[in-house]
Amino acid sequence: MKPDIIGESTWLPALELYGEGVFFSLDEDLLSRWESHPTLGERSNDFQRRFVATGLRFDPEITVTPRFLLLHTLAHLLIRQLETEAGYPAASLKERIYCTAGKLPMSGILVYVAVPDVVGSLGGLAELATPERFLLLLSSVFDHAEWCSLDPVCSEHGGQGPSLLNRAACHACALIPEPSCAYGNVLLDRTFIKGDATTGMPAFLNYLD
Ligand SMILES: [Zn+2]
Ligand SMILES: [Zn+2]
Repeated sequence: MKPDIIGESTWLPALELYGEGVFFSLDEDLLSRWESHPTLGERSNDFQRRFVATGLRFDPEITVTPRFLLLHTLAHLLIRQLETEAGYPAASLKERIYCTAGKLPMSGILVYVAVPDVVGSLGGLAELATPERFLLLLSSVFDHAEWCSLDPVCSEHGGQGPSLLNRAACHACALIPEPSCAYGNVLLDRTFIKGDATTGMPAFLNYLD
């Protein structure tokens, strides 16, 4: 077949991928009560300033908010947990964050595998999506948000990683292989999940009824 340089052909090349995933979203009421705490905005504004200064762009574009930092860090901790519990190599798992505020708020996380070989069709992820198993998994994720083997250094960091765009997040706790992350392993901070007594940031789990 001749190369179609002028774009005349009526077909596109395609690749068959095998995949499965876990999607979940957070309760909007709970999130908005959590978001209204003033200390969260201060910390995320600091992230947003640094992010704008780097000139980094993602597609779709993002605004760094407490909601985004919470979802993104949760997604990373979940991928790390799935690596140990479902046996997937972390590099085969990918994240997608659904985050908007305003009239049509979204707060979802999709962790999926989509690869051209059988690693995508083992069924392990779908199996873990049943409520009994997923809640156990999520509970370990929240436990792991609490600590890092490099604490207290990791938790107290004013800025680490590329362009100092991570705070309480390092290779020992929240980073994942580069191909898995949609945002270059930046904009991560466990403090948005676990809270921080010295700055008065609330723990997300405290908002559960
Ligand atoms: Zn760490
Ligand atoms: Zn990521």
